[in-house]
Amino acid sequence: MTAATPNDFEASLAPRNAAALLVEARLGIIFIPLFWALDWFVMPEQAWLLLWIRVIPTACGLSLLLLRRVAPRFFERHANPLAFGFSLMVAWSIALMCFMHEGYESQYYAGINLVLLCVGLLFSWRTTMAIGFNLAIYLFYMAPLVLGLTSFDDLPLALTNQFFLIATAVVTTASHAHRRALERREFDAQIAQQNLLAEVQTMATIDWLTNLYNRRHFFRLGEEEIARARRYRHDISVIMIDIDHFKAVNDTYGHSVGDEVLCAIAKRILAGLRQSDIAGRYGGEEFALVLPETDLESAAEIVAERLRDTIAARPIDTAEGPLHVTISVGVAGVDVTHENLLDALSRADSGLYAAKHAGRNKVIRWTSELARAAPA
Ligand code: GH3
Ligand code: MG
Ligand code: MG
Repeated sequence: MTAATPNDFEASLAPRNAAALLVEARLGIIFIPLFWALDWFVMPEQAWLLLWIRVIPTACGLSLLLLRRVAPRFFERHANPLAFGFSLMVAWSIALMCFMHEGYESQYYAGINLVLLCVGLLFSWRTTMAIGFNLAIYLFYMAPLVLGLTSFDDLPLALTNQFFLIATAVVTTASHAHRRALERREFDAQIAQQNLLAEVQTMATIDWLTNLYNRRHFFRLGEEEIARARRYRHDISVIMIDIDHFKAVNDTYGHSVGDEVLCAIAKRILAGLRQSDIAGRYGGEEFALVLPETDLESAAEIVAERLRDTIAARPIDTAEGPLHVTISVGVAGVDVTHENLLDALSRADSGLYAAKHAGRNKVIRWTSELARAAPA
């Protein structure tokens, strides 16, 4: 099961922040020239200087849109610092207007407040980043006063502007923190749901004891493989496996040791197969395999013999000490022209039955002679 980590959460916010940055860049490109028209109306004598101040964030906005086109992954990955820089530039261009217009008594301060609020609502930043953004603009706004370039002339109006600027910082920071908490909760709920779904899927498809596919899922996957083999006229084979004298293991050492043996054998079977092979727990201590792209000869001589050998060659370690266990194996090639999985498995089962009769720890492939010899 995968647990949600803080990194996953941050990554989940990246596309959202990138989308918000696009909105900001587009709106900026529309509004910044309109602001310049206002500058031109309010301060006609400074119109050209103001134009330059407005052109720079406009160019940045256009560059962001271009970057989004040519390097979308880079844009998304770095949406936060890009947004931080672009928003600062827009806010600073407005702060410059305040300074050039009537200092701290300028009505332009409203523009700064709007930018702070809009950015606050747009981005899912960390709260520290939101505070940093507000602080940077506030420091820039106050710099002319600190440097002695300007002073408060109309104190009540200047204080009102200060109050609104600080109030905006509080609102944006609080909205960021609240929004982040909501998004975090939403994210955690999503992860919990995904984990639950994965668990349910596992329970519905995997045998809890051996970790092989359960019978139902084995049939579903096996039939799909047979249909594919039929379409492309490819070879496909099936194998049935039964543990020899398994009842004696249970009777002598108890069921839990029997379970250990079952798990160990399932593990060895899986280790001896290809990734594309399908292994299922067919019954209590019976396993069934579907081997795509494998003819009867290879299935019997190579795969089945290898499985029989890996189990017989080494004893299985259990709580009661090492146990020597063997398996009997029946193999059949699927006749893809007309046969389904159940038919093929029942022929492999005839091979398995013959292997038991031949003394166990054997691989026997199905042949037509076997069919004639089988009990009615
Ligand atoms: P043979 O060589 O003829 O196959 O002899 P056998 O004793 O293995 O006979 P059979 O295949 O009929 O034995 C099935 C036994 O498998 C009976 C049952 O107690 C045991 N078994 C089935 N499922 C489980 C399981 O989940 N855990 C354990 N421990 N035993 C199981
Ligand atoms: Mg059995
Ligand atoms: Mg058995």
